[in-house]
Amino acid sequence: MAIIIVDDTIFSLEVIKAFLMTAGYLDVITVKSASELYQLVDGYSDRGIVEIDLILMDIIMPDVDGIEACLNVKKREWMADVPVIMVTATTEKDNLQLAFSAGAMDFIKKPLERVELLARVRSALRLKHETARRKARETELLEVTRQLQAANEMLQNLSFLDGLTGIANRRHFDQQLLQESRRAKREKTPLSLIMLDIDYFKAFNDTYGHLKGDDCLKTVASILKRTLKRPGDFPARYGGEEFAVVLPETDDVGAAVIAEELRASIERAGISHINSLCADYVTVSLGVVTRFSEQAETPDDLIMASDRALYRSKHEGRNLVSVERLM
Ligand code: GH3
Ligand code: MG
Ligand code: MG
Repeated sequence: MAIIIVDDTIFSLEVIKAFLMTAGYLDVITVKSASELYQLVDGYSDRGIVEIDLILMDIIMPDVDGIEACLNVKKREWMADVPVIMVTATTEKDNLQLAFSAGAMDFIKKPLERVELLARVRSALRLKHETARRKARETELLEVTRQLQAANEMLQNLSFLDGLTGIANRRHFDQQLLQESRRAKREKTPLSLIMLDIDYFKAFNDTYGHLKGDDCLKTVASILKRTLKRPGDFPARYGGEEFAVVLPETDDVGAAVIAEELRASIERAGISHINSLCADYVTVSLGVVTRFSEQAETPDDLIMASDRALYRSKHEGRNLVSVERLM
């Protein structure tokens, strides 16, 4: 880490360099003009890229003076935290004002006092190192915050998604049904609910094993997702081999059509089920209910009504859609 001295007089350069070297600062580079300084900070000098700790800058120089040089150097993003101390024969207020607004952090009067020079260099370097440490800590903190956010997001997803099928779980369904129920009331729109249960699924597990049973649940979930077209339609795993679909802004006719589409696409998937008593393939029974805006039924009432419809589908032979009317 180098200290750079910028001064147009060789004598000044040598004096400052000697003061610094005798105090143990061994990496000291002297340059005689602003343009040499620019080459150094931009990595175009013979030394290549130089890590700069501090710049001691003479104010009065021919061509480009120290204030302009400071202003110019500070335009570089990587120089923002490198302290610049002005070395000046004049202590006129205006000049110092300009130096500070150009980005200098301190000034030292000429003729130079060794003790004063070293004290100011030490405190500038300390400040720079503290700033660097603080920035490193901030970066670390930002990274930790980012990781925490990612972990939170994952936890949030885990607590809302069913682990096996990847669609919404019961908890998420309950929330969604409540929310859509309130919205439907507010916006005076119909709300429909479909309950759906796999037929003879116990026999499926007994025949093909639990793992194949799990695969079947995954397939059914993905068919639900694929068949539902509107972004508001909300499929969830209600529990075991039961699924539920919330259909906002959907009346009884629309809901029955969608239920029939779901029934047909699961049948069409042709998942072999030789011990089903109603088909050679996996089938589902469905129950549909619709609440119109003038009706008072709660989410629980809707679940019970769709369950009654589902029970009727089971009772009447399975692989069927039944619709329950609210009074
Ligand atoms: P029904 O046509 O009347 O619905 O008959 P069913 O055999 O499907 O109904 P029942 O409620 O008697 O059996 C449901 C079966 O679903 C029993 C249970 O082992 C199985 N099941 C529930 N959850 C899971 C699961 O996560 N994985 C697997 N493989 N099976 C499950
Ligand atoms: Mg079943
Ligand atoms: Mg069941």
